Amino acid sequence: MTIAIDADRIGRSPLAQPPLPFADTALEPVISAKTLTFHYGKHHKGYFDTLHKLIADTPHADATLEEIIVAAAADPAQKKVFNNAAQAWNHNFYWNSLCGDRQTPEGDLAAAIDRDFGSLDGCKAALAEASINQFGTGWGWLVVDGGTLKAVSTEDADVPFVHGQVPLLTVDVWEHAYYLDYQNRRPDHVKAVVESHLNWAFAARNFAQS
Ligand code: MN
Repeated sequence: MTIAIDADRIGRSPLAQPPLPFADTALEPVISAKTLTFHYGKHHKGYFDTLHKLIADTPHADATLEEIIVAAAADPAQKKVFNNAAQAWNHNFYWNSLCGDRQTPEGDLAAAIDRDFGSLDGCKAALAEASINQFGTGWGWLVVDGGTLKAVSTEDADVPFVHGQVPLLTVDVWEHAYYLDYQNRRPDHVKAVVESHLNWAFAARNFAQS
Protein backbone atom coordinates (compact mmCIF):
# COMPACT_ATOMS: atom_id res chain seq x y z
CA MET A 1 0.00 0.00 0.00
CA THR A 2 1.34 3.41 -0.94
CA ILE A 3 -0.19 6.51 0.60
CA ALA A 4 0.44 9.92 -0.90
CA ILE A 5 1.22 12.44 1.81
CA ASP A 6 -0.04 15.96 1.27
CA ALA A 7 1.61 17.92 4.04
CA ASP A 8 -0.44 21.03 3.31
CA ARG A 9 -3.60 19.09 4.12
CA ILE A 10 -2.46 17.10 7.12
CA GLY A 11 0.21 19.33 8.60
CA ARG A 12 3.71 18.82 9.97
CA SER A 13 3.62 17.99 13.66
CA PRO A 14 6.82 17.83 15.70
CA LEU A 15 7.57 14.76 17.81
CA ALA A 16 6.82 16.55 21.06
CA GLN A 17 3.56 16.72 22.96
CA PRO A 18 2.05 20.20 22.47
CA PRO A 19 0.59 22.02 25.47
CA LEU A 20 -3.14 21.75 26.05
CA PRO A 21 -4.85 24.64 24.21
CA PHE A 22 -7.06 25.43 27.23
CA ALA A 23 -7.06 25.29 31.02
CA ASP A 24 -7.73 21.87 32.55
CA THR A 25 -11.01 23.20 33.99
CA ALA A 26 -12.21 24.70 30.67
CA LEU A 27 -14.51 21.81 29.73
CA GLU A 28 -16.13 21.21 33.10
CA PRO A 29 -18.57 19.74 33.92
CA VAL A 30 -18.73 17.80 30.63
CA ILE A 31 -15.07 16.76 30.95
CA SER A 32 -13.70 17.16 34.47
CA ALA A 33 -10.25 18.51 35.25
CA LYS A 34 -9.45 15.08 36.72
CA THR A 35 -10.27 13.32 33.44
CA LEU A 36 -8.40 15.93 31.42
CA THR A 37 -5.32 15.75 33.65
CA PHE A 38 -5.07 11.96 33.38
CA HIS A 39 -5.98 11.92 29.69
CA TYR A 40 -3.42 14.54 28.66
CA GLY A 41 -0.75 13.88 31.28
CA LYS A 42 -0.80 10.06 31.33
CA HIS A 43 -2.46 8.63 28.21
CA HIS A 44 -1.44 11.19 25.59
CA LYS A 45 2.02 11.67 27.07
CA GLY A 46 2.45 7.90 27.20
CA TYR A 47 1.96 7.57 23.44
CA PHE A 48 4.67 10.17 22.81
CA ASP A 49 7.02 8.56 25.34
CA THR A 50 6.58 5.11 23.81
CA LEU A 51 6.98 6.48 20.28
CA HIS A 52 10.25 8.16 21.20
CA LYS A 53 11.63 4.85 22.49
CA LEU A 54 10.46 2.98 19.39
CA ILE A 55 11.96 5.40 16.86
CA ALA A 56 15.24 6.27 18.58
CA ASP A 57 18.13 5.64 16.18
CA THR A 58 15.78 4.79 13.29
CA PRO A 59 15.08 6.79 10.09
CA HIS A 60 11.87 8.01 11.79
CA ALA A 61 13.82 9.94 14.42
CA ASP A 62 13.93 13.12 12.28
CA ALA A 63 10.50 12.76 10.64
CA THR A 64 7.24 14.55 11.37
CA LEU A 65 4.45 12.74 13.16
CA GLU A 66 2.43 12.63 9.93
CA GLU A 67 5.33 11.14 7.95
CA ILE A 68 5.78 8.40 10.55
CA ILE A 69 2.05 7.58 10.55
CA VAL A 70 1.90 7.32 6.76
CA ALA A 71 5.08 5.21 6.53
CA ALA A 72 4.10 2.89 9.39
CA ALA A 73 0.54 2.45 8.07
CA ALA A 74 2.00 0.85 4.96
CA ASP A 75 4.15 -1.65 6.88
CA PRO A 76 2.53 -4.30 9.10
CA ALA A 77 5.89 -4.81 10.86
CA GLN A 78 5.58 -1.23 12.20
CA LYS A 79 2.16 -1.69 13.80
CA LYS A 80 3.39 -0.60 17.22
CA VAL A 81 5.01 2.53 15.78
CA PHE A 82 1.82 3.28 13.88
CA ASN A 83 -0.38 2.84 16.96
CA ASN A 84 1.68 5.16 19.15
CA ALA A 85 2.31 7.80 16.46
CA ALA A 86 -1.34 7.78 15.43
CA GLN A 87 -2.56 8.03 19.01
CA ALA A 88 -0.16 10.93 19.61
CA TRP A 89 -1.56 12.66 16.51
CA ASN A 90 -5.20 11.80 17.26
CA HIS A 91 -4.96 13.38 20.70
CA ASN A 92 -3.24 16.50 19.32
CA PHE A 93 -6.21 16.78 16.96
CA TYR A 94 -8.73 15.96 19.70
CA TRP A 95 -7.61 18.76 22.01
CA ASN A 96 -7.90 21.20 19.12
CA SER A 97 -11.36 19.81 18.33
CA LEU A 98 -12.58 20.93 21.75
CA CYS A 99 -13.09 24.35 23.30
CA GLY A 100 -14.58 25.86 26.41
CA ASP A 101 -17.04 28.20 24.74
CA ARG A 102 -20.10 27.17 22.77
CA GLN A 103 -19.55 27.83 19.05
CA THR A 104 -21.51 27.38 15.84
CA PRO A 105 -20.01 26.87 12.37
CA GLU A 106 -19.95 29.81 9.98
CA GLY A 107 -19.31 30.56 6.31
CA ASP A 108 -18.40 27.84 3.82
CA LEU A 109 -18.39 25.13 6.48
CA ALA A 110 -21.91 26.04 7.62
CA ALA A 111 -23.10 25.90 4.00
CA ALA A 112 -21.48 22.47 3.47
CA ILE A 113 -23.09 21.16 6.68
CA ASP A 114 -26.50 22.26 5.47
CA ARG A 115 -25.83 20.71 2.05
CA ASP A 116 -24.62 17.32 3.35
CA PHE A 117 -26.52 16.88 6.64
CA GLY A 118 -29.57 19.13 6.14
CA SER A 119 -28.82 21.18 9.25
CA LEU A 120 -26.30 21.66 12.05
CA ASP A 121 -28.50 19.48 14.26
CA GLY A 122 -28.36 16.77 11.59
CA CYS A 123 -24.57 17.02 11.52
CA LYS A 124 -24.27 16.82 15.30
CA ALA A 125 -26.63 13.83 15.40
CA ALA A 126 -24.62 12.00 12.73
CA LEU A 127 -21.31 12.68 14.50
CA ALA A 128 -22.77 11.57 17.84
CA GLU A 129 -24.21 8.41 16.30
CA ALA A 130 -20.92 7.46 14.60
CA SER A 131 -19.06 8.06 17.87
CA ILE A 132 -21.51 6.22 20.11
CA ASN A 133 -21.78 3.24 17.76
CA GLN A 134 -18.02 2.68 17.40
CA PHE A 135 -17.65 -0.80 18.89
CA GLY A 136 -14.93 -0.76 21.54
CA THR A 137 -12.05 1.69 21.45
CA GLY A 138 -11.79 4.27 18.70
CA TRP A 139 -12.74 7.71 17.47
CA GLY A 140 -15.71 9.51 15.93
CA TRP A 141 -14.86 11.98 13.17
CA LEU A 142 -16.33 14.66 10.97
CA VAL A 143 -14.38 14.33 7.71
CA VAL A 144 -14.36 15.51 4.11
CA ASP A 145 -14.40 12.47 1.82
CA GLY A 146 -14.33 13.14 -1.90
CA GLY A 147 -15.73 16.63 -1.41
CA THR A 148 -18.57 15.51 0.85
CA LEU A 149 -18.85 15.93 4.62
CA LYS A 150 -19.31 12.62 6.42
CA ALA A 151 -19.51 11.37 10.00
CA VAL A 152 -17.36 8.25 10.39
CA SER A 153 -15.60 6.27 13.08
CA THR A 154 -12.19 4.60 13.24
CA GLU A 155 -11.06 1.66 15.35
CA ASP A 156 -8.32 1.83 17.99
CA ALA A 157 -5.61 4.23 16.72
CA ASP A 158 -6.71 4.46 13.10
CA VAL A 159 -6.55 7.87 11.40
CA PRO A 160 -8.82 9.14 8.58
CA PHE A 161 -6.08 10.78 6.55
CA VAL A 162 -4.41 7.44 5.77
CA HIS A 163 -7.70 6.54 4.05
CA GLY A 164 -7.80 9.73 1.99
CA GLN A 165 -10.29 11.52 4.23
CA VAL A 166 -9.57 15.00 5.61
CA PRO A 167 -10.51 15.19 9.30
CA LEU A 168 -12.32 18.30 10.56
CA LEU A 169 -13.17 17.31 14.15
CA THR A 170 -12.85 14.25 16.37
CA VAL A 171 -14.42 12.77 19.50
CA ASP A 172 -12.38 10.29 21.56
CA VAL A 173 -14.51 7.30 22.55
CA TRP A 174 -11.83 5.26 24.29
CA GLU A 175 -13.15 4.62 27.80
CA HIS A 176 -10.32 6.69 29.35
CA ALA A 177 -11.94 9.75 27.74
CA TYR A 178 -15.09 9.52 29.86
CA TYR A 179 -15.07 6.68 32.37
CA LEU A 180 -14.11 8.75 35.43
CA ASP A 181 -17.02 11.14 34.76
CA TYR A 182 -19.65 8.98 33.04
CA GLN A 183 -18.63 5.35 33.74
CA ASN A 184 -20.37 3.27 31.04
CA ARG A 185 -22.61 6.11 29.78
CA ARG A 186 -20.75 6.84 26.56
CA PRO A 187 -23.85 8.28 24.82
CA ASP A 188 -24.33 10.93 27.53
CA HIS A 189 -20.68 11.96 27.30
CA VAL A 190 -20.63 12.09 23.50
CA LYS A 191 -23.87 14.05 23.21
CA ALA A 192 -22.66 16.63 25.76
CA VAL A 193 -19.32 17.09 23.97
CA VAL A 194 -20.94 17.38 20.54
CA GLU A 195 -23.57 19.81 21.78
CA SER A 196 -21.39 22.14 23.83
CA HIS A 197 -17.66 21.82 23.29
CA LEU A 198 -16.77 21.38 19.62
CA ASN A 199 -14.31 23.90 18.18
CA TRP A 200 -16.07 24.84 14.95
CA ALA A 201 -13.44 27.49 14.16
CA PHE A 202 -10.82 24.68 14.08
CA ALA A 203 -13.14 22.63 11.85
CA ALA A 204 -13.53 25.60 9.48
CA ARG A 205 -9.72 25.98 9.17
CA ASN A 206 -9.41 22.27 8.33
CA PHE A 207 -12.31 22.51 5.89
CA ALA A 208 -10.66 25.43 4.08
CA GLN A 209 -7.58 23.24 3.46
CA SER A 210 -9.56 20.15 2.37
MN1 MN B 1 -7.73 9.26 24.51
